[in-house]
Amino acid sequence: MQSEESPFMSRPDVPMLLAKNAAERAKRLRPDGNDQYVQLSGEHAHMNEDPFTDRTEREPHRDHVTFAFIGGGFAGLMTGAHLKTAGVTDIRIVESGGDFGGTWYWNRYPGVQCDVASLVYLPLLEETGYVPSEWYAHGPEIFEHCQRIGKQYGLYENALFHTRVTGLEWDETTRLWTVRTDRGDEFTAQFVSWGLGHLSVPKLPGIPGIETFAGHAFHASRWDYAYTGDPDGGPLDKLRDKRVAIIGTGATAVQSVPHLATACQELFVFQRTPSVVDVRDNRPIDPEWFAGMATPGWQQRWLDNYAANMASAEQPAEDLINDGWTALARMWREAEGASSPAPDASEEISAEVYADLEKMRTIHARVDDTVKDPRTAALLKPWYHLPCKRITFHDEYLDAFNVPTVHLVDTDGKGVERITPRGVVVDGTEYPVDCIVYASGFEVGTAPTRRAGFDPAGRGGKRLSEHWADGMRTMHGIHVHGFPNAFLVQQFTGGVRFSNLSHNLSEAAKTVAAVVAHAVSEGVDVVEVTREAEDSWMEQVGVDPEWRDFLATGCTPGYINNEGTDLGAHHLFDEFAGADGPGFFRLLQQWRAARDFDGLKFDRAE
Ligand code: NDP
Repeated sequence: MQSEESPFMSRPDVPMLLAKNAAERAKRLRPDGNDQYVQLSGEHAHMNEDPFTDRTEREPHRDHVTFAFIGGGFAGLMTGAHLKTAGVTDIRIVESGGDFGGTWYWNRYPGVQCDVASLVYLPLLEETGYVPSEWYAHGPEIFEHCQRIGKQYGLYENALFHTRVTGLEWDETTRLWTVRTDRGDEFTAQFVSWGLGHLSVPKLPGIPGIETFAGHAFHASRWDYAYTGDPDGGPLDKLRDKRVAIIGTGATAVQSVPHLATACQELFVFQRTPSVVDVRDNRPIDPEWFAGMATPGWQQRWLDNYAANMASAEQPAEDLINDGWTALARMWREAEGASSPAPDASEEISAEVYADLEKMRTIHARVDDTVKDPRTAALLKPWYHLPCKRITFHDEYLDAFNVPTVHLVDTDGKGVERITPRGVVVDGTEYPVDCIVYASGFEVGTAPTRRAGFDPAGRGGKRLSEHWADGMRTMHGIHVHGFPNAFLVQQFTGGVRFSNLSHNLSEAAKTVAAVVAHAVSEGVDVVEVTREAEDSWMEQVGVDPEWRDFLATGCTPGYINNEGTDLGAHHLFDEFAGADGPGFFRLLQQWRAARDFDGLKFDRAE
């Protein structure tokens, strides 16, 4: 059933749709931008504690390692694995959680699941011989796979868990890094590297009165199963007599609401901006089919195929994954390649924007087809251009709003007004609840050194935050001038325009392993990118001006556009402009294969 008033009735009513999107954006704009959020520190620090693993006391380390990696998520695991394979074995991973896994250690909310296909998202499948059970694996399976990698590559042996790095200092005389931690460690490392994820520092909405709530509250990435019951994915039985609020309707809420819906006495979903919820179509991976397909080198072929299908320029003949992501990429590529402007458009809009509007028609229709109450259905329809927010894929989220005890509380773009000791207030109405789950996301757009919690001091004591005062500077997203023997395993100022982050991390990890193994085997003390090489790389890095303008003026606020403010120095779109995903990966592969490590200077002590 299509709503009577839908501007999508037959063809998209372009002017009406653009006006509606602009009106919704205007409601959502607020002057405080990223400052509207607060970290889980100070009076909220208890919400940041690890509910999953007890902390064990240990003596501080005062020793030396060849290679220290900060972060035990995909980046650290892949770098460790590739280093060990290359013969560099004296490795220490330092991790703030109680085990490996990173995102998949912390995010254990009910329903947590990857949304890039398991066969390309899970690292080192061929090397570990592991076959994921589902096309989109659930969190526990991914966490277990992280542990599998840690065990197979001997990364547990020297790892420090529940340990946060607080300082990294380069010593010009010894040509070593000193690593300091919040557990009193002070050890040296010849090489350091870090990969901390870009959505890893949980944030709370700075709602007035948040500290006054007298019930129970937690952030979704620190799920409190002691309160809700059942850590193993069954019904959350302790919520049977509880009124629960969930604040936020992003990817986390979309995956967890269906589980809360049937578990709570009553569930109140507080919405500021609805998510796009497209078809998931998850299914088991057939082991027989897999065995027939998985000839040697299969995962790299699948990674390359997915990257090519997601790229703007290239499209291979075949689409192995063939899911919602590759369909969207195909849609945009076809629109980009279209010679004429939008068909039927009554004003000049690009074919890509027209394609977005067409796609949004199917997203709205899905809401109408699923959600029985027309008022709720209307509120669940997103009004913005597709790329403005992270698209979600789920087949049970919308249906959860048909459960009589689930209430959607829409805040008309303004957000929750206040929190009281009893509950949550929207538009003057108080909703009394026993528990508040903050599905309010992760800090984005702030300085990377703030999110890291340490600010490395490189040559001459210069801080990384100074070097990056006007934005990140690297070569390939990995090497930083003035910070010898240090490497980043992340995507910014590298090949960002790509949805499978795991592929970016894999290429960076292989690169770090190749450089360090070369340095070790050649007896080199110091390796550093030259100023010229960093400058020359950075000349090719930036945000496409049209895209920047679109983010600033055409997109509804969110973490993608730093809440609709000027993008500023730190944002999600510093990428190598010279190529899309496959081009960037080819460049790194060729750079490694050439073995002369162009742009790096290797120095051996006399
Ligand atoms: P998001 O940042 O996507 O969502 C936060 C939610 O909180 C938004 O709906 C936001 O509204 C809402 N919010 C913030 N402040 C207020 C307020 N004052 N009042 C009411 N609502 C408020 O966080 P998520 O944890 O959902 O996801 C973060 C990212 O992590 C995803 O985008 C994705 O990249 C990744 N992720 C991936 C998953 C997967 O792939 N399987 C699963 C989960 C997360 P508004 O939209 O208006 O800002």
